[in-house]
Amino acid sequence: MTTAAIIVAAGRGLRAGGGLAKQWRPLAGRPVVAHALAAFAGMARVLVIHPDDRAMAETVADGALIVAGGATRAASVRAALEALDGSGVTKVLIHDAARPNVSPELIARVITALDHAQGAAPALPVTDALWTGADGRVTGTRDRSGLFRAQTPQGFSFAAILAAHRAHMGEAADDVEVARAAGLEVVMVTGDEANQKLTFPGDFIRAEQALNRTGARMDVRMGNGYDVHAFCEGDGVWLCGVKVPHHKALLGHSDADVGMHALTDAIYGALAAGDIGQHFPPSDPQWKGADSQIFLKHAADLARSRGFTITSADVTLVCERPKIGPHAVAMRQALAAMMGIEVDRVSVKATTSERLGFTGREEGIAALASAVLVAK
Ligand code: MG
Repeated sequence: MTTAAIIVAAGRGLRAGGGLAKQWRPLAGRPVVAHALAAFAGMARVLVIHPDDRAMAETVADGALIVAGGATRAASVRAALEALDGSGVTKVLIHDAARPNVSPELIARVITALDHAQGAAPALPVTDALWTGADGRVTGTRDRSGLFRAQTPQGFSFAAILAAHRAHMGEAADDVEVARAAGLEVVMVTGDEANQKLTFPGDFIRAEQALNRTGARMDVRMGNGYDVHAFCEGDGVWLCGVKVPHHKALLGHSDADVGMHALTDAIYGALAAGDIGQHFPPSDPQWKGADSQIFLKHAADLARSRGFTITSADVTLVCERPKIGPHAVAMRQALAAMMGIEVDRVSVKATTSERLGFTGREEGIAALASAVLVAK
């Protein structure tokens, strides 16, 4: 079963203010539509846009197919469905770009419901009393029982909804209306209050607060690193920015600070930005004997330039000797200063390998590191 997502961003809604159509306004640092697209990462995605918005769309598409929409919402969805025809897609989720806070759990509920229904969509019961009104006065009340607030993504069997759209004439409030007009049964799954549609200026403020408040929406990256250097003749080893007296040194092109190299690679790993050897090729003579803090500072600066803060770094050194414990605090302070973060976010610890293997035979030192990065 292949599931695709259609993100409908072709509207011109200007009620949210700001001059731009609401799906292109910034929210927590990127356009609203980028949040919606990210929620469906990992699926085939189609982004339906107003033809005038193509340049903006290309900056956020992230691999999604960009399709120009039509004069109505129904025509825009139809264009996206036609673009997917013949691609092998069996389920399709149709989502309003103006709902940037859609959760993975809600998306999963819709997809699962499609195993047993041709249509499935999230809904929440109406809990407020309903009135009719005119000229600022209440003119009547309505029974709210049996009434639901519709959300997206609305999911369908692909073949069924494509046929329904082809048969549909004129506008429709949403795709459930198109599906029902074609006789498809649509089941409701539980919606989510956080999956609100951004319409008015205040909606943006609330959505931004929600994005900042909920850990689930934070962009957290984790990376790990590993490095080994062999012992050679010498009078001490550089470990995590501290020169530790020893009857040997570590062999390497740079200063061979094995712990700092592992940590540098962990940061590059969290950023999916390659490794230390790609940024500082050992074949380049300018890095011969280099102070490894150049590498760590480069990785930390790269993280900052991409909007990330290093919230945790943990290094484990594997060796029988020298003893690390007496130097661990100085190492933590050195690494924290190089990365520009608080020392209580940096851990340095050590273990022996019970005299087993190359570290046990004291042929060299190994280091493992992990780093956690969070988008500001
Ligand atoms: Mg190394």
